[in-house]
Amino acid sequence: MARLAQTPGLTDEQRAILETVREFADKEIIPHAQHLEHADEYPADIVDGMRDMGLFGLTIAEEYGGLGESLLTYALVVEELSRGWMSISGIVNTHFIVAYLVSQHGSPEQKVSLLPRMATGEVRGAFSMSEPGCGSDVAAIRSRAERDGDDFVLNGQKMWLTNGAYSSVVATLVKTETGAESVYGNMTTFLLEKEPGFGETAPGLTIPGKIEKMGYKGVETTEMVLDGVRVPASAALGGAEAGVGRGFYQMMDGIEVGRVNVAARACGISIRAFELAVGYAQQRQTFGAPLAKHQAIAFKLAEMGTKIEAAHALMVNAARLKDSGARNDVEAGMAKLLASEYCAEVVQESFRIHGGYGYSKEYEIERLMREAPFLLIGEGTSEIQKTIISRGLLKEYRA
Ligand SMILES: Cc1cc2nc3c(=O)[nH]c(=O)nc-3n(C[C@H](O)[C@H](O)[C@H](O)COP(=O)(O)OP(=O)(O)OC[C@H]3O[C@@H](n4cnc5c(N)ncnc54)[C@H](O)[C@@H]3O)c2cc1C
Repeated sequence: MARLAQTPGLTDEQRAILETVREFADKEIIPHAQHLEHADEYPADIVDGMRDMGLFGLTIAEEYGGLGESLLTYALVVEELSRGWMSISGIVNTHFIVAYLVSQHGSPEQKVSLLPRMATGEVRGAFSMSEPGCGSDVAAIRSRAERDGDDFVLNGQKMWLTNGAYSSVVATLVKTETGAESVYGNMTTFLLEKEPGFGETAPGLTIPGKIEKMGYKGVETTEMVLDGVRVPASAALGGAEAGVGRGFYQMMDGIEVGRVNVAARACGISIRAFELAVGYAQQRQTFGAPLAKHQAIAFKLAEMGTKIEAAHALMVNAARLKDSGARNDVEAGMAKLLASEYCAEVVQESFRIHGGYGYSKEYEIERLMREAPFLLIGEGTSEIQKTIISRGLLKEYRA
C-alpha cells in the first residue's frame, strides 16, 4: 500500500528485501491463496520460493549461513507475507522462533549442528508448549522428562503444534524435577529431532494427524504424543549443564518475539482487508453513487486506515525495542493486543462493505474473516496480554 504502514528509518537493504517479498506476495501468493486454502493444500511451491529467497535463514547469523537480519526486518517480511496469506507466515514463524531460541540460548554444539541446516530450510522448526489441558497456564503442563543416567525419557501429550508434521526439530517444553523451589525452575525445553511427516516420526514420538481448523489452512497444526522418547541430556536447549531447568524462561523469551510476529500478521491481514474494501467501495454502486461516496462508508475506510497506522507503529516499536537488546514484554503485549483486536475489527468492516458478496467463497474477504480470530488466541490471548501489560505497568508505577 502506497500510503499506509510505512516504516521510517529503514536501510537500503531492508527496503530491497521488503520490495522482493512484496512482489513475491503479489505474484506467487495472492493469486493462489484462495484455491490452496479452500483445498487445505500445503503450499509446496510457495515454500520452495521462500527457501530460494533465503527467508528461512533471514534472522540466522551470517556465520551460520543466514542473512543476519533483525527482528524488525523479519516482522515487516511477515506483514508482507500475511498480506498475501496468513498461512505462509505461519510456515516460517515457528521456524523463526526455534532459530531464535537456538541462537540465543543454544549450546555451541546445538548452534553448529542446527543453525546452518535451519538457514537453508532443510531443517524446519516447530514450537510446543500447549497441551490438551492447558495453553494460557503454561506452568500447568503435565508432560515430563525423567532422568535416566545420561539421558532423559519424555512422556506426555502436546497439542496445537503449528508445522508439527513438516518440521524436523520441535522445541518442546516439559516438566523436569530439578529441585528448584519455583515451578518455573522445574521446566526444560528439549530440542527433539524427528523425521518430517505423520505417524511415529522418531522412536516414541508420534504426530497423529492434522487438526481440522476453521481457517489458517494449508499449514498443518497437530498433536504430538511422547511415549518413552529417550534423548541425551545434551538435547536440553542450552545443553545438559546450562539448559536443564531453564525451559520456561527460554520459551517466554521466544514468545516475546512471537508476539511481535503475530502483531505483524495482524497488520498484514488488516492491510489486505483495507485494500479489498477500498477497491470494492469505489466500484460498487448503490443509490446512484459508488459506495465510497456515502459518508458512512468513507468514514469506515478512515477508521480502518487509522487502526492500521496505529497497529503498525506499535508493532515496529516493539520490534525495535527487542532489537536494541531490551526486554519488550509490555510493548510486545501491547502491540499484539492492539493489532489483533484492530485486525478483527478492520476485517469485519471490510466484510460489511462487501455486502452479500463478502459471504461468497469467491471473495478473499471470507478467508480473512476466518483467519483474523486466530490472532486473538495464538501466542497468548488478549486476556493474557492484558495480564502481562498490567503486571509490567504496576511494577513500573508502584505506589
Ligand atoms: C491454530 C492454532 C495454532 C497453534 N499453534 C501453537 C503452537 O505452534 N505451539 C503451541 O505451543 N501452541 C499453539 N497454539 C495454542 C495456543 O497458544 C493456545 O490455544 C492459547 O495460548 C490459548 O490457550 P487455550 O486454548 O488452552 O485456552 P485457555 O487457556 O483454556 O483459555 C480459554 C479462555 O479463557 C481465558 N483465560 C484463561 N486464563 C485466564 C485468566 N487468568 N484471566 C482471564 N481470562 C483467562 C483465555 O483468554 C481464553 O479466552 C495454537 C492454537 C491454535 C488455535
